[in-house]
Amino acid sequence: MKDSGTYNVDREGFYGPYGGAFIPEMLYPNIRELEERYLEIIYSETFQSDFKSLLMDYVGRPTPLYHAKRLSEHFRGQVFLKREDLNHTGAHKINNTVGQILLAQHLGKRRIIAETGAGQHGVATATVCALAGLECIVYMGALDVARQSPNVHKMKMLGAEVRSVHSGNKTLKDATNEAIRDWINHPVDTHYIIGSVVGPHPYPDMVTRFQSVISEEMKSQLLEKTGRDHPDYLVACVGGGSNAAGAYYHYLDDARVKLISVEAAGHGVDSGESAATTTLGSDGIIHGSRTLLMQDADGQITEPYSISAGLDYPGVGPIHAWLAKSGRASMVNVEDKEALEAAFLLTRLEGIIPALESAHALAALAKLDFGPEQNIVVNLSGRGDKDMEAYSSHLQEYPNNTEE
Ligand SMILES: *Cc1c(COP(=O)(O)O)cnc(C)c1O
Repeated sequence: MKDSGTYNVDREGFYGPYGGAFIPEMLYPNIRELEERYLEIIYSETFQSDFKSLLMDYVGRPTPLYHAKRLSEHFRGQVFLKREDLNHTGAHKINNTVGQILLAQHLGKRRIIAETGAGQHGVATATVCALAGLECIVYMGALDVARQSPNVHKMKMLGAEVRSVHSGNKTLKDATNEAIRDWINHPVDTHYIIGSVVGPHPYPDMVTRFQSVISEEMKSQLLEKTGRDHPDYLVACVGGGSNAAGAYYHYLDDARVKLISVEAAGHGVDSGESAATTTLGSDGIIHGSRTLLMQDADGQITEPYSISAGLDYPGVGPIHAWLAKSGRASMVNVEDKEALEAAFLLTRLEGIIPALESAHALAALAKLDFGPEQNIVVNLSGRGDKDMEAYSSHLQEYPNNTEE
């Protein structure tokens, strides 16, 4: 893996003005240990060979790059789907948790903690803890525990302890605070697995590197299928931004590739109910890094909203704050109803039911100005099994005779 220049992290852990490690002093030893060792461990021969073989035989990589012919006809451009939905546990999140569990083992940790909102990262973490035989504690807001019972059952079946958090709004932010408190109290034996390109340095860079397998595969797959190793457009949804960062990584400094980042606009950017962080956000500090976040005039974080649980995060990873601010990536806002429409369109044209998050990325296809011979890759971050309740409540709006 290469270290690309301008848009990548610098030695101090910053992307332009964003990133860094703004943490309580009591976390310094934990973060320092990680910062000093992560690169040396990740690029050691044993780590690389263990990581690659788990990605292949356990996760099911490489994931296919699928030329979606009927979708291509519909949008009059050559649309390719990077099939992260076909990974074990149904999304890209497992790429990162497999990497971090190996790292934890190299660091000699015996106990894993994580926080989760919708439960997807909790399941991906509980999965690799079962695989490695490590103790797993997942912090989850009490409200989310009640809303996301299938994922809570999965985590428990995988052997994890789910700790319900009753403070604050009883959602992700409160679960994160509890996880950080736990880590402060267990600095020696515990590794904290963060699920996206967020948090203090080195997490955003570390998670980006684990997810960069997506663009690494994409390069050779595109070369084979199109004769060029790059697309004209590369589209991904951004919650915290890990699937997008992984899909972009090897193209960050390749100006031939237009990077399109899709944020959830909920009921509309100006509706007061959205998660359009880079459009509505301003500079601030969340979860230990400086980035763009949705906050009021007093710096209180605004509660985000999206139909998609994986995208309703009030910040973005610092790499995305920088990609947006510098103009390297173009931001596209997609509302709930546009994402639903895109999900039904993909399902009816290609027989693939996408995750609601990925449906936001697909919906951007209707808003881009590409030609019939141009190649567009959409990172299909996950599958829609978890979203069937939302989809089935909208079935009557999409009668089953597709008009083309
Ligand atoms: C969690 C999730 C996301 C959002 O997370 P990122 O870190 O922004 O990638 C997107 N898609 C799916 C399927 C998810 O589960």
